[in-house]
Amino acid sequence: MALLIDGKKISAEIKDELKVQVAELAAKGVTITLAVIQVGDDKASSVYVGNKKKACEYIGVKSLAYELPEATTEEELLKLVKELNERKDVNGILVQLPLPKHINEDAVLLAINPDKDVDGFHPVSVGRLWIGQKGYESCTPAGIIQLLKRSGIEIAGKECVIVGRSNIVGKPMAALLLRENGTVTVCHSRTKDLASVTKRADILVVAIGKPKFITAEYVKEGAVVIDVGIHRMEDNKLCGDVDFADVEPHVSAITPVPGGVGPMTIAMLMCNVVRSAEQ
Ligand code: NDP
Repeated sequence: MALLIDGKKISAEIKDELKVQVAELAAKGVTITLAVIQVGDDKASSVYVGNKKKACEYIGVKSLAYELPEATTEEELLKLVKELNERKDVNGILVQLPLPKHINEDAVLLAINPDKDVDGFHPVSVGRLWIGQKGYESCTPAGIIQLLKRSGIEIAGKECVIVGRSNIVGKPMAALLLRENGTVTVCHSRTKDLASVTKRADILVVAIGKPKFITAEYVKEGAVVIDVGIHRMEDNKLCGDVDFADVEPHVSAITPVPGGVGPMTIAMLMCNVVRSAEQ
């Protein structure tokens, strides 16, 4: 039977470790503050923002919530980001995406001081990641590295195949696996004979955004499969990009959905927030 990689348990361990670190910093007089900006009242975004605030509270970090109306202009938002950049008491700034259509997301992300960019989306953070400099790592892929390491799965020298090349998952995942000395291949919608590539993988990371796309025919016997996708099906159940029931009997380890990669994203955001105190 495959090892079920337990993201719920691992993320809880990480948050408990951070709680201790935050208490140690507080004893030295260092306090940490995260500014969280949400524009509009998108329901999913409100849930994500609420979970981030709860995680801050749990580890002992102060969060400042900016809930701005949908009609907020790009200029107003940029002004707020600039103010937060300049505030010495604010360590990290997070702008919840997506932003309303009239606001240019790239311009807003670019305005955040890279030293406060706890989401790791600023081009400077991305560049630092690729050239091996210290900086913030994109949270979901950083969480996947922790899932592998804390489950005792060696990355060095392994054939790592990523399906998906988005800026928030696929590309930073490639950088992080490369940094861990994996041999990395990135697939996308133009990849020819996808199964022949994914079947080479010792570690297969799937971030396609298509429910149950990866079936047993895409997977090598004994591989480790990490499923980033998350979808709510008609029966209200959640599933990933991997057909879990079909793939699980063939692999050595696999993440479930829910309870795999999902919980790690906030835990790694909290890691970045604690690191922001060092910047
Ligand atoms: P995107 O839609 O931005 O990217 C999807 C990628 O998959 C693209 O690179 C696309 O290729 C590729 N792709 C699509 N179809 C195929 C195909 N048939 N064969 C090969 N490649 C294909 O998605 P994200 O990276 O943002 O998210 C992926 C999934 O992960 C989603 O389900 C999302 O909800 C989930 N997610 C979960 C998170 C978590 O915390 N658990 C965090 C972030 C995302 P191309 O570039 O050529 O178009």
